[in-house]
Amino acid sequence: MSFDVAIVGAGLAGCEAAWQCAKRGAKVGLYEMKPTKRSPAHHSDRFCELVCSNSFRAEGLQNAIGLLKEELLRCGSLVMSCAMKHKVPAGGALAVDREGFSEAVTREIRSHPNITVIEQEITSLEFDIPAVIAAGPLASEGLSEAICRFCGEKQLFFCDAAETIVTAESIDMSKAYLASRYQKGTADYINCPMNEDEYKAFYDSLIGAQTAHIHEFDTDRVFEGCMPVEVMAKRGYETLLYGPLKPVGLPDPHTGKLPRGVVQLRKDNAASSLYNIVGFQTHLTFPEQKRVFSMIPGLENAEFVRYGVMHRNTFLNSPCLLTPTYETRKKKGLFFAGQITGVEGYIESVSSGFVAGLNALGKSVEFPRETAIGALAHYVSDPGSEPFQPMNINFGLFPSLEGKIKKKDRKLQLSQRALNILATIKL
Ligand SMILES: Cc1cc2nc3c(=O)[nH]c(=O)nc-3n(C[C@H](O)[C@H](O)[C@H](O)COP(=O)(O)OP(=O)(O)OC[C@H]3O[C@@H](n4cnc5c(N)ncnc54)[C@H](O)[C@@H]3O)c2cc1C
Repeated sequence: MSFDVAIVGAGLAGCEAAWQCAKRGAKVGLYEMKPTKRSPAHHSDRFCELVCSNSFRAEGLQNAIGLLKEELLRCGSLVMSCAMKHKVPAGGALAVDREGFSEAVTREIRSHPNITVIEQEITSLEFDIPAVIAAGPLASEGLSEAICRFCGEKQLFFCDAAETIVTAESIDMSKAYLASRYQKGTADYINCPMNEDEYKAFYDSLIGAQTAHIHEFDTDRVFEGCMPVEVMAKRGYETLLYGPLKPVGLPDPHTGKLPRGVVQLRKDNAASSLYNIVGFQTHLTFPEQKRVFSMIPGLENAEFVRYGVMHRNTFLNSPCLLTPTYETRKKKGLFFAGQITGVEGYIESVSSGFVAGLNALGKSVEFPRETAIGALAHYVSDPGSEPFQPMNINFGLFPSLEGKIKKKDRKLQLSQRALNILATIKL
């Protein structure tokens, strides 16, 4: 059978890419290794399987993820339209009935006359038609090896831990302070001091907090030597105070004294709009991370843009390999999409599948950085994104607004600017 485009993986990114190509008239071959072979996290035979939470996170234009969803809806995303039809009440978030959602996407894909589903594991990147590789963070071993051969072993990471990230503007600097240990170099770290009572409350919550289910691949050798903060805490009351919460050399300028413990946050991007919590690899569930880490003085109202995760997470060193259309710099017509490109999260994966799908048709559509779709695409392909780490969409990735804007209006204005620009793009 001859196709115009090949898509590998019928997950969040692959289904969106396939749909965008098919609805524009291209004949699509969609390769999916299920049901013959599955990753350790995939269990259903349906497409677009949500391997963990059923939440697509916050709604509303005050949130970058809300904006990303709105942009995708306006652009005619299949995955977003199925999500809206299968939403379940979840406060200010968009959560879906996972079976209903997955079933709906599968039905649309399988019934599209331009899409042929081929149940087969792909282990090579040798395509003579445009191809989108959307095999996810748990891409099969055979395919991961082919990717290593294509881009070089050093360009494919198996990330075992990613630290929690918060926005700089949400840190309470009346409690936290800038300093480097022993005042070495410039004061690049934000330090959150704890007294004995604060440390004790934090410690007790941390050791009692709920951890995420551990899939069997979590115990792979790649994770050896990488200890979650809650596991370290369980070794003894003072262990953290000699580890990531070590206060020496970090006197608190508010009191002039050495705190009992100090949590340090390190800049996570060149714009200094994002900070990660140093040494906080964690297995805690996302709600528990929010609850427990918000007990750290200065982080009470922190905006968490990425939660810490520990699992196999295959991702490319995309800034060296991809363009903002998710096409490889090395081979024209070969695209990657989804979590494997270093975008983090369900909707972010859909967004990259959407862009890669459009471009696999030869349309050459590059979304501007001012849009959420474009901000993400530019983040993963920008050689300045060093050291490269998977990232959720967040307003820290957008170019600043011109002029002086009140903080409370900033997010809505960034969203409005994005939607105005999006309206000018011809798809
Ligand atoms: C354990 C785990 C939990 C996660 N939890 C969340 C969460 O709660 N919320 C969130 O927003 N994000 C979560 N993520 C991150 C991410 O958003 C999801 O993994 C998301 O499904 C990524 O979409 P994708 O399209 O890139 O990959 P997937 O949705 O995983 O789709 C990839 C597809 O490719 C297929 N495939 C793999 N290899 C081959 C091959 N060689 N040939 C053919 N087909 C192949 C797979 O069977 C699968 O169907 C989680 C990730 C993991 C690993």
